[in-house]
Amino acid sequence: MLEVFNKILEKIKEYDTIIIHRHERPDGDCIGSQMGLKYVIEDTFPHKKVYAVGDKVPEYLSDLGKSEEISDDIYKEALVITVDTSLKKRICDQRFLNGQYLIKIDHHDDSEPFGDIEYVEVTSPACSSIIVDFIRTFENELNITERACNALYMGIVTDTGRFRYRSVTAQVLNNSGYLLSKGVDIERIYAKLYTKDSSILKLQGAVCNNFKLTPNGVAYMYLSKKLMKKYKVTKEDAANLVNLLDSIKGSLIWVVFVEQMKPKTKEPHPKDEAPENEIRVRIRSRNVAINEVARNYRGGGHLQAAGATIFSKKEMKSLLQELDELHLQYKKENPEAF
Ligand code: AMP
Repeated sequence: MLEVFNKILEKIKEYDTIIIHRHERPDGDCIGSQMGLKYVIEDTFPHKKVYAVGDKVPEYLSDLGKSEEISDDIYKEALVITVDTSLKKRICDQRFLNGQYLIKIDHHDDSEPFGDIEYVEVTSPACSSIIVDFIRTFENELNITERACNALYMGIVTDTGRFRYRSVTAQVLNNSGYLLSKGVDIERIYAKLYTKDSSILKLQGAVCNNFKLTPNGVAYMYLSKKLMKKYKVTKEDAANLVNLLDSIKGSLIWVVFVEQMKPKTKEPHPKDEAPENEIRVRIRSRNVAINEVARNYRGGGHLQAAGATIFSKKEMKSLLQELDELHLQYKKENPEAF
Protein backbone atom coordinates (compact mmCIF):
# COMPACT_ATOMS: atom_id res chain seq x y z
CA MET A 1 0.00 0.00 0.00
CA LEU A 2 2.71 2.47 1.01
CA GLU A 3 4.58 1.98 -2.23
CA VAL A 4 1.50 2.68 -4.38
CA PHE A 5 0.47 5.64 -2.22
CA ASN A 6 3.97 7.10 -2.63
CA LYS A 7 3.70 6.77 -6.39
CA ILE A 8 0.25 8.39 -6.38
CA LEU A 9 1.46 11.35 -4.31
CA GLU A 10 4.48 11.73 -6.59
CA LYS A 11 2.18 12.01 -9.61
CA ILE A 12 -0.12 14.46 -7.84
CA LYS A 13 2.92 16.63 -7.10
CA GLU A 14 4.16 16.33 -10.68
CA TYR A 15 1.02 17.52 -12.45
CA ASP A 16 -0.47 21.02 -12.31
CA THR A 17 -3.74 19.91 -13.85
CA ILE A 18 -5.62 17.06 -12.24
CA ILE A 19 -9.01 15.80 -13.35
CA ILE A 20 -10.98 13.47 -11.10
CA HIS A 21 -13.61 11.21 -12.65
CA ARG A 22 -16.14 8.88 -11.01
CA HIS A 23 -19.02 6.66 -12.01
CA GLU A 24 -22.31 7.65 -13.57
CA ARG A 25 -25.41 7.88 -11.38
CA PRO A 26 -23.30 9.23 -8.53
CA ASP A 27 -23.83 8.08 -4.97
CA GLY A 28 -22.45 9.40 -1.70
CA ASP A 29 -19.21 7.45 -1.86
CA CYS A 30 -18.25 8.43 -5.38
CA ILE A 31 -19.00 12.12 -4.83
CA GLY A 32 -17.44 11.94 -1.35
CA SER A 33 -14.19 10.41 -2.61
CA GLN A 34 -14.09 12.65 -5.68
CA MET A 35 -14.66 15.91 -3.81
CA GLY A 36 -12.66 14.85 -0.75
CA LEU A 37 -9.60 14.13 -2.91
CA LYS A 38 -10.12 17.33 -4.93
CA TYR A 39 -10.26 19.49 -1.79
CA VAL A 40 -7.22 17.91 -0.19
CA ILE A 41 -5.18 18.53 -3.36
CA GLU A 42 -6.51 22.09 -3.77
CA ASP A 43 -6.04 22.97 -0.13
CA THR A 44 -2.50 21.62 -0.14
CA PHE A 45 -1.38 22.86 -3.56
CA PRO A 46 -3.37 26.04 -4.25
CA HIS A 47 -1.61 26.67 -7.59
CA LYS A 48 -2.90 23.40 -9.09
CA LYS A 49 -6.07 23.22 -11.14
CA VAL A 50 -8.21 20.33 -9.92
CA TYR A 51 -11.46 19.45 -11.66
CA ALA A 52 -14.28 17.14 -10.54
CA VAL A 53 -15.94 15.91 -13.70
CA GLY A 54 -19.24 14.08 -14.20
CA ASP A 55 -22.98 14.39 -14.50
CA LYS A 56 -25.16 16.34 -12.08
CA VAL A 57 -24.57 15.85 -8.37
CA PRO A 58 -27.85 14.78 -6.70
CA GLU A 59 -29.50 17.32 -4.42
CA TYR A 60 -28.79 15.40 -1.19
CA LEU A 61 -25.07 15.57 -1.97
CA SER A 62 -25.08 19.16 -3.17
CA ASP A 63 -23.27 20.39 -0.04
CA LEU A 64 -20.21 18.43 -1.13
CA GLY A 65 -19.62 20.28 -4.40
CA LYS A 66 -20.58 20.59 -8.05
CA SER A 67 -19.45 18.78 -11.16
CA GLU A 68 -17.42 20.91 -13.53
CA GLU A 69 -17.63 21.14 -17.30
CA ILE A 70 -14.23 21.29 -18.92
CA SER A 71 -13.00 21.52 -22.49
CA ASP A 72 -11.14 18.70 -24.27
CA ASP A 73 -7.82 20.55 -24.39
CA ILE A 74 -7.52 20.54 -20.58
CA TYR A 75 -6.90 16.77 -20.75
CA LYS A 76 -3.76 17.16 -22.90
CA GLU A 77 -1.44 17.79 -19.99
CA ALA A 78 -3.51 16.39 -17.20
CA LEU A 79 -3.25 13.66 -14.63
CA VAL A 80 -6.58 11.83 -14.50
CA ILE A 81 -7.68 9.99 -11.37
CA THR A 82 -10.78 7.79 -11.37
CA VAL A 83 -12.41 6.97 -8.06
CA ASP A 84 -14.95 4.37 -6.94
CA THR A 85 -15.41 2.83 -10.39
CA SER A 86 -14.51 -0.71 -11.32
CA LEU A 87 -15.37 -0.80 -15.01
CA LYS A 88 -14.25 1.62 -17.70
CA LYS A 89 -17.69 1.69 -19.28
CA ARG A 90 -19.24 2.95 -16.03
CA ILE A 91 -17.00 5.99 -15.78
CA CYS A 92 -18.95 9.13 -16.39
CA ASP A 93 -17.40 11.02 -19.32
CA GLN A 94 -15.18 8.73 -21.34
CA ARG A 95 -12.60 11.50 -21.82
CA PHE A 96 -10.91 10.07 -18.73
CA LEU A 97 -8.81 8.15 -21.27
CA ASN A 98 -7.49 11.36 -22.83
CA GLY A 99 -5.16 12.49 -20.03
CA GLN A 100 -1.38 12.04 -19.94
CA TYR A 101 -1.38 9.68 -16.99
CA LEU A 102 -4.15 7.64 -15.40
CA ILE A 103 -4.59 6.54 -11.79
CA LYS A 104 -7.42 4.34 -10.61
CA ILE A 105 -8.53 4.16 -6.97
CA ASP A 106 -11.35 1.74 -6.25
CA HIS A 107 -12.79 -0.76 -3.79
CA HIS A 108 -15.03 -2.97 -5.96
CA ASP A 109 -14.38 -6.68 -6.20
CA ASP A 110 -15.22 -6.85 -9.91
CA SER A 111 -12.56 -4.33 -10.86
CA GLU A 112 -11.36 -4.44 -14.46
CA PRO A 113 -7.66 -3.59 -14.73
CA PHE A 114 -6.92 -0.13 -16.17
CA GLY A 115 -4.71 2.85 -15.47
CA ASP A 116 -0.96 3.44 -15.19
CA ILE A 117 -1.28 3.07 -11.44
CA GLU A 118 -4.09 1.09 -9.83
CA TYR A 119 -5.00 0.90 -6.19
CA VAL A 120 -7.95 -1.40 -5.54
CA GLU A 121 -8.68 -2.31 -1.93
CA VAL A 122 -11.65 -4.66 -1.94
CA THR A 123 -11.75 -5.01 1.83
CA SER A 124 -12.60 -1.33 2.19
CA PRO A 125 -16.37 -0.82 2.31
CA ALA A 126 -16.02 2.72 0.94
CA CYS A 127 -13.67 4.29 -1.56
CA SER A 128 -13.75 7.41 0.63
CA SER A 129 -12.07 5.41 3.39
CA ILE A 130 -9.22 4.56 1.00
CA ILE A 131 -8.81 8.28 0.31
CA VAL A 132 -8.61 8.81 4.08
CA ASP A 133 -5.94 6.06 4.30
CA PHE A 134 -4.03 7.95 1.64
CA ILE A 135 -4.39 11.30 3.40
CA ARG A 136 -3.40 9.88 6.77
CA THR A 137 -0.28 8.32 5.25
CA PHE A 138 0.90 11.80 4.29
CA GLU A 139 -0.69 13.71 7.12
CA ASN A 140 2.35 15.89 7.55
CA GLU A 141 2.40 16.92 3.92
CA LEU A 142 -1.29 17.30 3.12
CA ASN A 143 -3.73 19.93 4.30
CA ILE A 144 -6.97 18.32 5.45
CA THR A 145 -9.64 20.95 5.75
CA GLU A 146 -13.24 20.71 6.93
CA ARG A 147 -14.73 20.58 3.43
CA ALA A 148 -12.67 17.49 2.59
CA CYS A 149 -13.64 15.84 5.88
CA ASN A 150 -17.37 16.44 5.31
CA ALA A 151 -17.20 14.96 1.80
CA LEU A 152 -15.26 11.88 2.90
CA TYR A 153 -17.44 11.31 5.95
CA MET A 154 -20.54 11.41 3.76
CA GLY A 155 -18.90 8.84 1.48
CA ILE A 156 -18.18 6.46 4.34
CA VAL A 157 -21.58 6.90 6.00
CA THR A 158 -23.48 6.15 2.80
CA ASP A 159 -21.44 3.20 1.51
CA THR A 160 -21.46 1.43 4.86
CA GLY A 161 -25.26 1.74 5.18
CA ARG A 162 -24.65 4.16 8.08
CA PHE A 163 -22.00 1.82 9.56
CA ARG A 164 -24.38 -1.15 9.57
CA TYR A 165 -22.71 -3.54 7.12
CA ARG A 166 -20.46 -6.38 8.20
CA SER A 167 -17.83 -5.01 5.86
CA VAL A 168 -17.28 -2.16 8.34
CA THR A 169 -13.79 -2.59 9.73
CA ALA A 170 -11.98 -1.13 12.71
CA GLN A 171 -9.96 0.86 10.18
CA VAL A 172 -13.09 2.46 8.71
CA LEU A 173 -14.33 3.48 12.17
CA ASN A 174 -10.88 4.74 12.96
CA ASN A 175 -10.80 6.80 9.75
CA SER A 176 -14.26 8.18 10.55
CA GLY A 177 -13.05 9.20 14.00
CA TYR A 178 -10.09 10.88 12.37
CA LEU A 179 -12.40 12.90 10.08
CA LEU A 180 -14.56 13.85 13.08
CA SER A 181 -11.52 15.10 14.93
CA LYS A 182 -10.74 17.37 11.98
CA GLY A 183 -14.27 18.78 11.75
CA VAL A 184 -17.44 17.19 10.39
CA ASP A 185 -20.95 18.56 10.72
CA ILE A 186 -22.66 15.24 11.48
CA GLU A 187 -26.15 16.66 12.01
CA ARG A 188 -26.13 18.45 8.68
CA ILE A 189 -24.93 15.31 6.90
CA TYR A 190 -27.69 13.17 8.42
CA ALA A 191 -30.32 15.87 7.80
CA LYS A 192 -29.26 15.88 4.13
CA LEU A 193 -29.65 12.10 4.07
CA TYR A 194 -32.94 11.77 5.92
CA THR A 195 -35.13 14.76 5.10
CA LYS A 196 -37.26 14.20 2.02
CA ASP A 197 -39.97 15.80 -0.08
CA SER A 198 -43.47 14.85 0.95
CA SER A 199 -44.00 13.33 -2.53
CA ILE A 200 -41.24 10.80 -1.79
CA LEU A 201 -42.74 9.90 1.56
CA LYS A 202 -46.03 9.26 -0.20
CA LEU A 203 -44.34 7.06 -2.79
CA GLN A 204 -42.72 5.16 0.09
CA GLY A 205 -46.24 4.46 1.31
CA ALA A 206 -47.15 3.09 -2.11
CA VAL A 207 -44.06 0.86 -2.16
CA CYS A 208 -44.83 -0.49 1.33
CA ASN A 209 -48.37 -1.25 0.25
CA ASN A 210 -47.64 -2.73 -3.15
CA PHE A 211 -44.31 -4.55 -3.15
CA LYS A 212 -44.43 -8.21 -4.16
CA LEU A 213 -42.68 -11.38 -3.04
CA THR A 214 -41.52 -14.25 -5.25
CA PRO A 215 -42.48 -17.78 -4.09
CA ASN A 216 -39.31 -18.09 -2.01
CA GLY A 217 -39.30 -14.58 -0.63
CA VAL A 218 -37.44 -12.15 -2.91
CA ALA A 219 -39.11 -8.78 -2.35
CA TYR A 220 -39.49 -6.51 -5.37
CA MET A 221 -41.24 -3.46 -6.65
CA TYR A 222 -41.72 -2.29 -10.21
CA LEU A 223 -41.55 1.49 -10.41
CA SER A 224 -43.17 2.47 -13.68
CA LYS A 225 -42.99 5.83 -15.41
CA LYS A 226 -46.70 6.17 -14.68
CA LEU A 227 -46.18 5.69 -10.95
CA MET A 228 -43.27 8.15 -10.85
CA LYS A 229 -45.39 10.67 -12.72
CA LYS A 230 -48.30 10.15 -10.34
CA TYR A 231 -46.10 10.83 -7.31
CA LYS A 232 -44.11 13.54 -9.12
CA VAL A 233 -40.74 11.99 -8.33
CA THR A 234 -37.62 11.54 -10.45
CA LYS A 235 -36.28 8.14 -11.44
CA GLU A 236 -33.34 8.70 -9.08
CA ASP A 237 -35.74 9.38 -6.20
CA ALA A 238 -37.62 6.22 -7.05
CA ALA A 239 -34.43 4.14 -7.36
CA ASN A 240 -33.32 5.36 -3.95
CA LEU A 241 -36.24 3.55 -2.35
CA VAL A 242 -34.57 0.17 -2.80
CA ASN A 243 -33.64 -0.18 0.85
CA LEU A 244 -37.19 0.39 1.94
CA LEU A 245 -37.53 -3.35 1.31
CA ASP A 246 -34.52 -4.28 3.43
CA SER A 247 -36.26 -5.26 6.65
CA ILE A 248 -38.76 -7.93 5.71
CA LYS A 249 -38.30 -11.02 7.88
CA GLY A 250 -37.35 -14.04 5.80
CA SER A 251 -36.63 -11.96 2.71
CA LEU A 252 -32.89 -11.90 2.13
CA ILE A 253 -32.94 -10.36 -1.33
CA TRP A 254 -34.79 -7.25 -2.44
CA VAL A 255 -34.96 -5.48 -5.77
CA VAL A 256 -36.41 -2.41 -7.43
CA PHE A 257 -37.01 -2.10 -11.15
CA VAL A 258 -37.06 1.49 -12.34
CA GLU A 259 -38.30 2.37 -15.81
CA GLN A 260 -35.92 4.82 -17.42
CA MET A 261 -37.25 7.70 -19.40
CA LYS A 262 -34.79 7.59 -22.23
CA PRO A 263 -35.77 9.22 -25.52
CA LYS A 264 -35.99 7.18 -28.67
CA THR A 265 -32.82 7.34 -30.73
CA LYS A 266 -32.37 7.08 -34.46
CA GLU A 267 -29.31 4.89 -34.03
CA PRO A 268 -29.79 1.25 -34.94
CA HIS A 269 -30.05 -1.10 -32.00
CA PRO A 270 -31.47 -4.58 -31.41
CA LYS A 271 -35.24 -4.30 -31.13
CA ASP A 272 -35.28 -5.80 -27.65
CA GLU A 273 -32.61 -3.40 -26.40
CA ALA A 274 -34.32 -0.17 -27.39
CA PRO A 275 -33.28 2.63 -25.01
CA GLU A 276 -36.89 3.63 -24.45
CA ASN A 277 -37.50 0.20 -22.90
CA GLU A 278 -34.58 0.38 -20.49
CA ILE A 279 -35.25 -0.69 -16.92
CA ARG A 280 -32.68 -0.07 -14.20
CA VAL A 281 -32.39 -2.87 -11.67
CA ARG A 282 -31.05 -2.34 -8.15
CA ILE A 283 -30.49 -5.53 -6.16
CA ARG A 284 -29.58 -5.77 -2.50
CA SER A 285 -29.25 -8.67 -0.07
CA ARG A 286 -28.41 -9.83 3.41
CA ASN A 287 -25.40 -12.13 2.99
CA VAL A 288 -26.47 -13.71 -0.31
CA ALA A 289 -24.04 -13.07 -3.19
CA ILE A 290 -26.21 -11.52 -5.89
CA ASN A 291 -23.67 -9.96 -8.25
CA GLU A 292 -23.37 -13.10 -10.38
CA VAL A 293 -27.04 -12.83 -11.28
CA ALA A 294 -26.61 -9.09 -11.97
CA ARG A 295 -23.79 -9.95 -14.35
CA ASN A 296 -26.19 -12.12 -16.37
CA TYR A 297 -28.24 -8.98 -17.05
CA ARG A 298 -25.63 -6.45 -18.24
CA GLY A 299 -24.64 -5.53 -14.72
CA GLY A 300 -22.40 -6.34 -11.81
CA GLY A 301 -21.36 -4.89 -8.49
CA HIS A 302 -20.68 -5.99 -4.96
CA LEU A 303 -21.69 -9.30 -3.39
CA GLN A 304 -24.63 -7.71 -1.56
CA ALA A 305 -25.29 -4.60 -3.66
CA ALA A 306 -25.45 -4.91 -7.40
CA GLY A 307 -27.12 -3.32 -10.38
CA ALA A 308 -28.19 -4.37 -13.85
CA THR A 309 -30.03 -3.17 -16.94
CA ILE A 310 -32.88 -5.02 -18.58
CA PHE A 311 -35.18 -4.23 -21.48
CA SER A 312 -38.43 -6.09 -20.93
CA LYS A 313 -40.85 -7.58 -18.42
CA LYS A 314 -39.78 -10.97 -19.78
CA GLU A 315 -36.22 -10.30 -18.64
CA MET A 316 -37.54 -9.09 -15.31
CA LYS A 317 -39.36 -12.37 -14.86
CA SER A 318 -36.30 -14.44 -15.64
CA LEU A 319 -34.06 -12.32 -13.39
CA LEU A 320 -36.52 -12.73 -10.53
CA GLN A 321 -36.61 -16.44 -11.15
CA GLU A 322 -32.81 -16.66 -10.89
CA LEU A 323 -32.84 -14.65 -7.68
CA ASP A 324 -35.67 -16.76 -6.30
CA GLU A 325 -33.69 -19.96 -6.91
CA LEU A 326 -30.62 -18.40 -5.34
CA HIS A 327 -32.69 -17.36 -2.34
CA LEU A 328 -34.06 -20.87 -1.92
CA GLN A 329 -30.61 -22.41 -2.23
CA TYR A 330 -29.13 -20.00 0.29
CA LYS A 331 -31.87 -20.67 2.81
CA LYS A 332 -31.40 -24.42 2.42
CA GLU A 333 -27.71 -24.05 3.14
CA ASN A 334 -28.22 -21.46 5.89
CA PRO A 335 -31.41 -22.40 7.73
CA GLU A 336 -30.61 -19.91 10.50
CA ALA A 337 -30.75 -16.95 8.07
CA PHE A 338 -33.58 -14.48 8.61
P1 AMP B 1 -26.59 0.58 -7.68
O1 AMP B 1 -27.78 -0.25 -7.40
O2 AMP B 1 -26.71 1.31 -8.98
O3 AMP B 1 -26.22 1.44 -6.52
O4 AMP B 1 -25.38 -0.40 -7.88
C1 AMP B 1 -24.80 -1.11 -6.85
C2 AMP B 1 -23.41 -1.51 -7.29
O5 AMP B 1 -23.53 -2.34 -8.44
C3 AMP B 1 -22.59 -0.32 -7.70
O6 AMP B 1 -21.66 -0.02 -6.71
C4 AMP B 1 -21.92 -0.75 -8.97
O7 AMP B 1 -20.63 -1.18 -8.68
C5 AMP B 1 -22.65 -1.94 -9.46
N1 AMP B 1 -23.41 -1.72 -10.70
C6 AMP B 1 -24.60 -1.11 -10.84
N2 AMP B 1 -25.02 -1.12 -12.11
C7 AMP B 1 -24.06 -1.75 -12.81
C8 AMP B 1 -23.87 -2.08 -14.18
N3 AMP B 1 -24.79 -1.78 -15.11
N4 AMP B 1 -22.74 -2.73 -14.54
C9 AMP B 1 -21.81 -3.07 -13.61
N5 AMP B 1 -21.93 -2.79 -12.30
C10 AMP B 1 -23.03 -2.15 -11.90
